[in-house]
Amino acid sequence: MSPDTDTSHRYAELALAALKKTGLSASPRNYELWYAHVEGKNPSLSAHIQKAMDANGKVSQEKADALYKKLIEQTDISNDVIELVTRFHNEVSALYDIVEESGENAQGRTKQLSNISEQLRETTETYPAVGALLEGVISVAKSMREENENLESRLAASVDEVNALQRDVEAIQREAMQDALTGVANRATFDRSLGKHMSEARDNGEPLTLLLCDIDHFKKFNDTWGHLTGDQVLRLVAEMMNANVKGMDLLARYGGEEFAVVLPGTTIENAQKVAEKIRAAVESRRLRKRRTEEDLGTVTMSLGVAQLRPDDTMESLIERADTCLYAAKSAGRNRVFHEGELSASDEESPRQGVA
Ligand code: GH3
Ligand code: MG
Ligand code: MG
Repeated sequence: MSPDTDTSHRYAELALAALKKTGLSASPRNYELWYAHVEGKNPSLSAHIQKAMDANGKVSQEKADALYKKLIEQTDISNDVIELVTRFHNEVSALYDIVEESGENAQGRTKQLSNISEQLRETTETYPAVGALLEGVISVAKSMREENENLESRLAASVDEVNALQRDVEAIQREAMQDALTGVANRATFDRSLGKHMSEARDNGEPLTLLLCDIDHFKKFNDTWGHLTGDQVLRLVAEMMNANVKGMDLLARYGGEEFAVVLPGTTIENAQKVAEKIRAAVESRRLRKRRTEEDLGTVTMSLGVAQLRPDDTMESLIERADTCLYAAKSAGRNRVFHEGELSASDEESPRQGVA
């Protein structure tokens, strides 16, 4: 068995065992939820489950359904996209019907008018006959007006629906680009944008720097105050970082408690200043629990700063920033470390990935 198959079998067993403890049935939805829980990729979900188990020793089906809706279903935007495509399709068909119908109506009325003008030519000029034909013209004009009014209101409704669709498409695009917890750009957006920023910097002969930032001892914070409070802190840290970047800068959630900032047109000296401002802002913020106002102390952040080199790939730039971040951790945390401070041996043996 490959290690992947092995792991997935182990998760499946763990998920079923954990599910049994909750008293819930092993329905496909419950299984999916508990598989995600034991896999540990959705910390928020695990925290909710843990909280319910700690409080009641079981999880109600109602709670499981709510969690599924909030944390699994909502992360799957493909359903939203399918619904949007269907709505677009319906709107286009409706518009097509309106256009076709207006064409048929116009054809019908043209025929009626040409009949009338034919009869006019043939008729003797006696008043009653002309009067009857005039009534025919008036009735055609009236029908046309009614048809136009009807088409107009249907077209107006269609335009409203298309506008609503456009707003929904924009919202889904935003959702796909943003990190759901903090609202900053997500990892996928970071991966897409970094390459673009790097080529622009090279084309324009401008500097570009990258910050990798990681909250210090965040595991301990979660262990002390709970994961949900940890989530609030992540939001707050993202806000503080956002307040210290501007314009073209891209702030993204790079991983769990790690953020990345791409600073186009910024030298390493200026990037260090930005990093230092972020570090100081995080350090100086006294954290309080929202409802109880309980003092949670402070958190600190370590930051690594690297500047784009001519031969860099995305990976090599990220790796250097990561090596700097690691060096900041090793040097005692709550500090900024830039690549000018790296020794040759640091650069040769970068650590494997980010913790
Ligand atoms: P270090 O100073 O070395 O970075 O220590 P650390 O504990 O922050 O580092 P480590 O990488 O060992 O642990 C990261 C922790 O961050 C693990 C997890 O508890 C927490 N974390 C990751 N993602 C989330 C999240 O989405 N929400 C919350 N609340 N915590 C998270
Ligand atoms: Mg950390
Ligand atoms: Mg980390």
